[in-house]
Amino acid sequence: MKRPKKFKILLLIVISFAILSSLYLYINSEKKYEDISYSEFISYVKNGKIERVNLNNSSRIRGKFTTGEFFITDNPRTENFKETLLINNIKVVETSGNSTIVQGFTFLLFLVGIGAIAYFINNNMTKQAQKEMASMSNVESNNENEYTFTFDNVAGNEEAKESLKELVDFIDNPEKYSKYGARIPRGILLYGPPGTGKTLLAKALAGEAKVPFFSVTGSDFIQVYAGLGASRIRSLFKKARACGKSVIFIDEIDALGKKRKGNLSSNGNDEGDRTLNALLTEMSGFSDSEGTIVVAATNRVDILDEALLRPGRFDRQIEVGLPDVNARYKILKLHSKNKPLSEDVNLEKLSQETSYFSGAMLENLMNEAAMIAARNNDSYINMDHIDKAFFTVLVGEEKKDRSSILMKDKKITAYHEAGHALVAKKVSMDNRVTKVSIIPSTKGMGGFSMNIPPDKMYQTKKDIRNNIMIALGGRAAEEIIFGAENITTGAYNDLQKATDMIVKMMGIYGMDKELGLLNYEVVLGQNMGSNSIIIDRLKNQIDELYEETKELIIKNKSFLNQIAMNLLDKEVLNEVEINDILFRKCSIA
Ligand code: ADP
Ligand code: ZN
Repeated sequence: MKRPKKFKILLLIVISFAILSSLYLYINSEKKYEDISYSEFISYVKNGKIERVNLNNSSRIRGKFTTGEFFITDNPRTENFKETLLINNIKVVETSGNSTIVQGFTFLLFLVGIGAIAYFINNNMTKQAQKEMASMSNVESNNENEYTFTFDNVAGNEEAKESLKELVDFIDNPEKYSKYGARIPRGILLYGPPGTGKTLLAKALAGEAKVPFFSVTGSDFIQVYAGLGASRIRSLFKKARACGKSVIFIDEIDALGKKRKGNLSSNGNDEGDRTLNALLTEMSGFSDSEGTIVVAATNRVDILDEALLRPGRFDRQIEVGLPDVNARYKILKLHSKNKPLSEDVNLEKLSQETSYFSGAMLENLMNEAAMIAARNNDSYINMDHIDKAFFTVLVGEEKKDRSSILMKDKKITAYHEAGHALVAKKVSMDNRVTKVSIIPSTKGMGGFSMNIPPDKMYQTKKDIRNNIMIALGGRAAEEIIFGAENITTGAYNDLQKATDMIVKMMGIYGMDKELGLLNYEVVLGQNMGSNSIIIDRLKNQIDELYEETKELIIKNKSFLNQIAMNLLDKEVLNEVEINDILFRKCSIA
């Protein structure tokens, strides 16, 4: 239904004409006319200063001075007015139209012009919107990959893969699950740093289940035209439904579902909100037996609107973290499968030297190396090529020895995390440290150590004190190993937790002799911190606990060193490995 070009040109001419003529009339009607009183006019008439008068029936009349200028004055509307003028040798031009009609006409022309412009803009907007819709449908489906993508295309990420594998069976046999009344997750949220394989995992899920894969990006939905995002969501789901079972992938979901700033105010007319609501509506429109799964990805789970994470929405969340040494080796291996590597390339060593690299960076590294080798017409990709590629991948990084680039950071993180783990095991034998890692995760600054205290209904004062010491263990280890001047911001989160715990212990649970049994929240509301007596007492106590923590670490410094060294080597230690260091070696000594 294209409009002919001729029509467009004609419209353009009409618009220009309307605008120009209304402009002309406007200028002529107001600007150039000198407004004079009737008595002034009469005296000009007598002095022969008037050349011409335009006579009409309206309240005002216009005319021309002998000087060539124009005037406007009141119309006397007397019978002999015309005669008076003629007697005084003044030309009389009789116009039937009056100026209100002219003004009306001007206004009408103006309206036509505006209308035409509005029509054009609107017309273009719809075109643009249509174009966007069209471009979107290009991105959408990917069925031509013919389900060749499988979990074998994803290296590492074992836990994420396990979680997703369960869903393959659901997509294949949704009836089986609904027969048992099991509620199936509608939405899966994959979160983690960029380039860690989230898209890859979603594709693999579709590939393994042999269903079409539809993908869109959240930021695509933030459009100028109101309502377009929502209608795109609806059309995406409609398309997916038409295919029966499918995997719908929404990358950068945070672009749609950002946390709202004011808790209470939900600006319902915000475009992002509208799109998000459309998405949630579509998701809840699925029946359990349909076998469609929506997978969303984000780099920042913390900024997501909680509405997205509620049951029936993206209620299964899977972390996709940066790869550890082992996973890096697997990824490197995967991406050099079809590349001719020279004998001197040691992927194991390379995986050691690529801490903090994402899967995408590793892929990029191997690809760059291959490009360099090809450019040089070398028959194999050698270590030289990889060295060169290394710096291309780490754009912005200085040409330092690559193994030292991150070594300092790594060492600090290793000691910090070792501090947490050591203190956790030393304050109470009941504490389990299941994992220590120096790979950054979305939860922690530089890795995390998991400490699961045994299940208990109540926490004792001793438990809380221990937990505060565990939280302070990272900073304490940093200070002991690197000196008081070299402590880092890495303890930011730990201090937040420790402060929270000590405030509760002493100010709310009444566990401090000096502050007594008062719940200071009841006494002072949220302003506990403005009371200097309480603050002094809290600070005094946390300082004491910090000293105790340091003493504990110094006493066990050899363990701290061993944990840190093992972390530097392996990056991730599991429970058995930690206990090995702490107990078996201990009994030998
Ligand atoms: P994300 O969606 O997390 O940003 P992608 O899945 O788009 O990351 O990964 C980008 C590219 O990086 C992939 O196409 C692949 O080549 C490589 N890659 C990332 N992670 C992995 C992995 N775990 N295994 C194999 N290749 C990976
Ligand atoms: Zn810490």
